[in-house]
Amino acid sequence: PNQYLAGLPTTIFTIMSQLAVKHGAINLGQGFPDTEGPQDIIQVAAEALQDGRNQYAPLTGLPELREAVASSNRRFYGLEIDPATEIVVTSGATEALAACLMAVVEPGDEVVVIEPLYDTYLPALRLLGAVPRCVRLQPPHWSLPEAELRAAFGPKTKAIMLNSPMNPSGKVFVREELELIADLVREHDAYAICDEVYEHLTFHVKHMPLMTLPGMRERCMRIGSAGKSFSLTGWKVGYVTAPAALASVVAKAHQVLVFATAPNLQRAVAYGLNKDESYYQALSAQMETQRDLLRDGLHRLGFETLPADGSYFIVADISRHAEGRSDVDFARWLVEHAGVATIPVSAFYDPEGDAPPQNLIRFAFCKKPEILSEALKRLEKAL
Ligand code: PMP
Ligand code: GLN
Repeated sequence: PNQYLAGLPTTIFTIMSQLAVKHGAINLGQGFPDTEGPQDIIQVAAEALQDGRNQYAPLTGLPELREAVASSNRRFYGLEIDPATEIVVTSGATEALAACLMAVVEPGDEVVVIEPLYDTYLPALRLLGAVPRCVRLQPPHWSLPEAELRAAFGPKTKAIMLNSPMNPSGKVFVREELELIADLVREHDAYAICDEVYEHLTFHVKHMPLMTLPGMRERCMRIGSAGKSFSLTGWKVGYVTAPAALASVVAKAHQVLVFATAPNLQRAVAYGLNKDESYYQALSAQMETQRDLLRDGLHRLGFETLPADGSYFIVADISRHAEGRSDVDFARWLVEHAGVATIPVSAFYDPEGDAPPQNLIRFAFCKKPEILSEALKRLEKAL
């Protein structure tokens, strides 16, 4: 077998979710909402199944979904996108990330990535023979170090992968940071793979796609996910927005990887994307309330938290409670003794790189308020 893949550990999300089940713990580890999801969207999917939407969808996606993605680009970001040539529907953002990488990198190319990062980025690019150049955000403010970022770009740079709003940090990149990234991308004639799955989950800050900056329309592949925008993570429907010349190659990658995505789900996601402003506002307001509940509770328990302006996640500093234990050991102790599952943040760093910080754990707040309150009670009892 392929040695690299064979040696890849099982994802931390699965490990922690299994431990949560084993210990009857509340799962604030893996990021999935514990709500049913919008019933009207689910109804559209169910009706589409009954309605005979059961054969292969068109390769790049149902026209109605591509149109809904294009119109959402216009509505939220003022981007003019041709639904016929500039959208590719994928089976989740996970597939989209791999397809976008496949579309641009060749063996030996370098790809700039920002740590802490989502756990498919490095394996996906290494399997393509690309070489990661990692830049670390600096706690406690998750600041982007300009000199390091500049140094990571070079003659072999093919692309940067940018996740904003970011998992696991909860960071939402601000205009000055995006301008710096855009300058470097232009200067090095590179592409940007923009993982924006949490685009609608920001709290009093505005998400700005890199694609909206000058010169970036032609270089960005912008990825969204129905899983996050509609709290339906099991559906695995993603969408890539890219200039036609790139989208056509992303479509080739999709042709090789999956070919077509479930048509009934596509129809329902098209319906969902066309929801009015109030849906999106309610979604982020609910998530913000939950973030506040968890954050304030963690503060009362003596944890310091790092800024979390978007996503499903907030990171806490465990130094005060861990008594010298690493984040991995502390997270294990929490799931066993407090009955609360979390994710150690060191899992979001390159295992082949320098030692990661070991004093941070990630909590998911995409859970019902009563569940978050119960988790806080359990933590209080155990600590
Ligand atoms: N990127 C990030 C940053 C994520 O957190 C997730 C969620 N698991 C994904 C991509 C994958 O999204 P999907 O479930 O649509 O494949
Ligand atoms: N994106 C989710 C998280 O970060 C889970 C993804 C997964 O389980 N692969 O928790």
